[in-house]
Order: sequence, then C-alpha cells, then structure tokens
Amino acid sequence: MSDGLLVVISAPSGCGKDTLVAGAMKKMPGECFLSVSMTTRNMRPGETQGVEYIFVSRDEFLKNIEEGNMLEYAVYGSNMYGTPIAPVKKKLSEGKTVFLIIEVEGGGNVKKIFPEATKIFIVPPSMEELESRLRGRKTDSEEAIMNRLCIARQELQRAEEYDYIVENDNLDDAIDDILAIVRAQKLSINKMKNKVKEVIYNA
Ligand code: 5GP
Repeated sequence: MSDGLLVVISAPSGCGKDTLVAGAMKKMPGECFLSVSMTTRNMRPGETQGVEYIFVSRDEFLKNIEEGNMLEYAVYGSNMYGTPIAPVKKKLSEGKTVFLIIEVEGGGNVKKIFPEATKIFIVPPSMEELESRLRGRKTDSEEAIMNRLCIARQELQRAEEYDYIVENDNLDDAIDDILAIVRAQKLSINKMKNKVKEVIYNA
C-alpha cells in the first residue's frame, strides 16, 4: 500500500485542537491514527496512562531520545513532550493519515525527518475570543490565563512556518477545512506519482 499522510496540527492553548482533530477523524473512520505522545508532565485527573499520553519519568524520556525512539521532542513549560517514531512509521506504511497534535517547536522539527509532512496551524477568531474561551473553561487561575495568552501570542508569530491556516470560529467549518486539506494533500502529485505511472505503463 502507498505511504500515508503525516499531518502536524499546532495551535495555541484554548483553540480547540483536540476537539477539531477528533471531529475530523470521526469523518474518516479507519483511515487515520492519532499519535500518542510521551511526556514527563504529571497525569491530570481523568487522564489514563497510554491514552492521552505515555507518562514517563525524565530519565526514561531522555533514554528514549538517546536510543533514537523519538521523531521530535520539545520542552514546553517545565515538561518534555515528544512523539514516539515507531507507531508513526508503522501507520504511515499502512497508508494511514497520521495526526500529530504538537507545539510549534516540535512542529518545526518534524519536517527535518518527514519533509513531506503537512503542517496545519489553528488560529482563534481573535485574541479576545481566545481569552473568553480560556476563562470559560474555569480551570485556570488569572495568572495561568495571562501566561497562556502570552504563549499564544508567541506561537501565533510562528504560524507562517505552517502550510495551512484554519480558523476555529465555527467547529464544523473548521473540521471541514481540515478534511479538505487532507483530501487535497492525498491528491497532490507527490502522493499520486505512482498512480500516474501505473496508468502510463498499464496502457
Ligand atoms: P498539555 O500539557 O496541555 O497536554 O500539552 C502542552 C503542549 O504540548 C500542547 O501544545 C501540546 O500540543 C504539546 N504536545 C503534546 N504532545 C507533544 C509532542 O509529542 N511533541 C511536542 N513537541 N509537543 C507536544
């Protein structure tokens, strides 16, 4: 089977990237895989080992880097986050669309290993809207909200490193935009080269 599509999704905290990717994946049943990252951060209430993340100690994380098991990794806050490479390679070889939901630093490093990766940056309709969404969650202190907004501004500065920008104003529209990008990328000459050859040589 032909190689699948690697899709990197990045967005400031509060832009709804997890909900968006879950919505897009629901519309492509059996075709996609969501990479489970490794992290050194503490498990939050409601999270399960191996589901949201593979939670490991700092030593274990560093050992995985040393052994070449990570596609990319980055420090975010005071914790380390990274993408285990083996499941990504396996799913791509099965022709699947593989989603990585990662921050911008790691997003920049993915293309060093997979230059053909498609990078999508999710933007909020406005900073005011992002602030009101973060407040609406009622999970963060005033200081944490201000900190997230400050990081969001820095992350938005790096949106130009991405191939596509999706505005998450209306959830369904944003999901459709992601599906449209995936569909177009699957039809790109890069992915369809073999199909063209097949048509020529079987003529
Ligand atoms: P959280 O701790 O809120 O779950 O995630 C913090 C940030 O780390 C988010 O921006 C999330 O997308 C990012 N992140 C999650 N997994 C990875 C990963 O494997 N690599 C990188 N570079 N960032 C990640």
